[in-house]
Amino acid sequence: MRVLAVGCVHGHWQRIVDEVNRQQQAGTPVDLILACGDGKTFRSKFDMNYTAIPPRYRNMESFHELYNGGISLPVPCIYIGGNHDASLFLYELPYGGWIAPNVYYLGHASAVDYVLGDRHVRIGGVSGIYKRYDIGKGHNEQPPFDQDALRSVYHHRQSDFTWLQSAMAKQPPLSTICLSHDWPSCMPAAIEPRLLPMRVREEAQAGQLGSDLSNELVNALAQGQIRTLGDVRWYSAHMHFRGDMTIRKEGLGNDVVFVGLGKDMEPNGFEIIEIPDDTCRESLQNLSDSIPDVMPTDKNLFFAACLPVTPDPLTKTCVAEERKWYPVAPFSRRFDPETFRDNPQTVALCDQTGLPLPYNVIDGCDMQMQRGRAVLSARQRARTVDACAFQEALDCCGEGVTYSHFDRLE
Ligand SMILES: [Zn+2]
Ligand SMILES: [Zn+2]
Repeated sequence: MRVLAVGCVHGHWQRIVDEVNRQQQAGTPVDLILACGDGKTFRSKFDMNYTAIPPRYRNMESFHELYNGGISLPVPCIYIGGNHDASLFLYELPYGGWIAPNVYYLGHASAVDYVLGDRHVRIGGVSGIYKRYDIGKGHNEQPPFDQDALRSVYHHRQSDFTWLQSAMAKQPPLSTICLSHDWPSCMPAAIEPRLLPMRVREEAQAGQLGSDLSNELVNALAQGQIRTLGDVRWYSAHMHFRGDMTIRKEGLGNDVVFVGLGKDMEPNGFEIIEIPDDTCRESLQNLSDSIPDVMPTDKNLFFAACLPVTPDPLTKTCVAEERKWYPVAPFSRRFDPETFRDNPQTVALCDQTGLPLPYNVIDGCDMQMQRGRAVLSARQRARTVDACAFQEALDCCGEGVTYSHFDRLE
């Protein structure tokens, strides 16, 4: 399986289309695209009101053409969000979903198994960037976002990584690729300073760049707390330069081969790799007997790990069960607090799995979520998102439980 991994897109989706077509014409077609964020995922000018991109860089670029079908990607693309994206749009899909035909967004953090014939690769990804002061929060921003929320909305949360680790701990696939927009923090610090651009040298050496949470995930992979059957490849973007590093395995773990990619489909902004075919299925069988039962018991996490992204052999488009392409925003939509939260993919997913609707998630803590569900059953109560409901929830659950989300009630 040939995979095109792309760093910061910066809205240059057309360049990705061009590269995929070029490979096709050269007789070396790619099967899958992985894109690491900053896609300027604006469906329309409306979305530019809800982004942290400084105004001087706020231009439409080509995502809207992908969205509207003016251009198309001939193979599926798995996408994570960055800090320069359409925050309101991506917020509609916290668990992931299709953001354009053939473009599947992983949400805040999730993993999918991509299956092509008998070839199989697991892709885990986490969107956004790391700011230490936000990691303990829930995803509690409420649109329309103020200036702070416009940024915190894409900051890493501890709970996203807990979720992702559980999803990836499922029986290991033959190949694993991780995506994060921000680099794991050990990487910039480990790169020889002379190889770093001047602008980041000081911060890198002081250990102030990158995500500590991603680092923990790297360590879990390298030390075998998350089992994989071969080396893990890890792609990041955001720093806008290329950096290579291998974290050596310990014990039952595997090497984590890190590649920080550049931007804009420049030569250091992408790479094409060949994922070996499943030639050692037998070893997968053998190993699975000896794996401790680490499969998440929570069906929500199980779903996240199992969601198949399988190209339909007839239509050659990507179909993942009920989660198909839904255009959800007419071109000049105004912000409507009543409807923005009704992205049909999120609603369908929650219906299917029992996952809480995004505005029913309580601080990302499972136990709190369970307790919260009992009180705030999204199916039983009248629609309200006002402060009274919030206070009522607090009152019902007693002390020691903090609710950072309003319920999304029906
Ligand atoms: Zn970025
Ligand atoms: Zn960028």
